[in-house]
Amino acid sequence: MNEAANTLFKFNSVSVTLGGNKILDKVNATVPKGSCTAIVGPNGAGKTTLLLTLLKKVSYKGEITFYSPEKKALPRIAYVPQKLQIDTALPMTVLEFMVSGQQRVPFWFGVRTKLKSRAMELLKSVHMESVANRRLGALSGGEMQRVLLALALAQKPELLVLDEPSASVDIQGDILLCELMDKFRKELGFTQLMVSHDLGTVSHHATHVICLNRRVVAEGNASETLTHENLAAIFGLHMGLAQISENCCTKAHLDA
Ligand code: ADP
Ligand code: MG
Repeated sequence: MNEAANTLFKFNSVSVTLGGNKILDKVNATVPKGSCTAIVGPNGAGKTTLLLTLLKKVSYKGEITFYSPEKKALPRIAYVPQKLQIDTALPMTVLEFMVSGQQRVPFWFGVRTKLKSRAMELLKSVHMESVANRRLGALSGGEMQRVLLALALAQKPELLVLDEPSASVDIQGDILLCELMDKFRKELGFTQLMVSHDLGTVSHHATHVICLNRRVVAEGNASETLTHENLAAIFGLHMGLAQISENCCTKAHLDA
């Protein structure tokens, strides 16, 4: 196997200590190129911390190798946060928010027509054109995540990082969000790395799974990793992939 051609990132014995506590302990894992890689694990497992090592927002021991044919230091990374903390009374429309993410001057100095039509195109791609003139604070959790996804896609990412993208989204919204991400990933060819609490979503959409509880408990495709033994080891749950598939639309909130 040509590792460099198939791998985007490799974590090699990555350890993180914060406030005197070992948060990540010699993590070895791979993010395959073009994959939808899901990190699963209980609360406090170090999932967000692992994303932060990749984004160079936290210091670590060990090595993170980025395989770049052009020998770039880092790929273009777009990040979709779990929940955007916004003032719900903010007098900003969805379209103004989209434009302000792309133009250098504040939107109250006027909006360039080209950026406005680009923003509309992006909203359309996530089925959100009908809410362009709605106040940003009036969006539901699922609508907000789709707007954030559109804004992330505008950055033409090579790696799309999402930290629990569906934590505040209902089941229908979650299915739509995952389907959109699958479609864009295939069309645009980026790699997707997400933390998810929802094993149904992971078993349906992830092409690669990293089971994490401060160290890597298992790694591979969903059927190899989401086994009774591994889930019991990381969550203390009596649940394997067979049960997840039977009940794929049920959110499994697995907070330990
Ligand atoms: P997860 O995303 O899996 O829930 P996190 O990566 O957010 O877990 O956190 C893992 C552990 O590290 C938690 O126990 C958390 O309290 C701890 N932690 C996170 N940031 C810090 C910090 N700056 N100082 C000390 N402990 C931290
Ligand atoms: Mg987290």
